[in-house]
Amino acid sequence: MADAQDPNCIFCKIIQGKIPSRKVYEDDDMFAFHDINPWAPVHFLLIPKSHIPSMAQVTEAHAALLGRMLVKVPQLALQEGVNPYPEGGFRLLTNTGAEGGQEVHHLHWHVMGGPRPWLRG
Ligand code: 5GP
Ligand code: ZN
Repeated sequence: MADAQDPNCIFCKIIQGKIPSRKVYEDDDMFAFHDINPWAPVHFLLIPKSHIPSMAQVTEAHAALLGRMLVKVPQLALQEGVNPYPEGGFRLLTNTGAEGGQEVHHLHWHVMGGPRPWLRG
């Protein structure tokens, strides 16, 4: 279950409904919503409800949570309309730190798919 939230974090505010989003999925541990600036026909973000800043802070204590999130990725990708593997498929991406291209410092996994060309990626 989600524990620590950061009151200044934009993604914590999205989880709490303080900032509106187009929700894809929610359970006790995770939340998924459409990226506001999509690169691909399907582009959503999957995040833990607890405020983990990035992959750099991940420890063994997060292994079960991250495993559950990972299993959700292909299910949610198909739910959101990506075409089936292998002709379709999706891209799973996480940016970590400034040099990794991370702008929002609440761990998030980009899931992108749909027919190409894409805007980016
Ligand atoms: P990063 O560069 O940190 O990996 O990606 C952050 C992502 O969050 C970007 O793709 C950006 O479009 C998305 N994003 C930033 N602010 C918001 C927001 O308020 N709502 C939604 N839905 N997406 C956001
Ligand atoms: Zn947060």
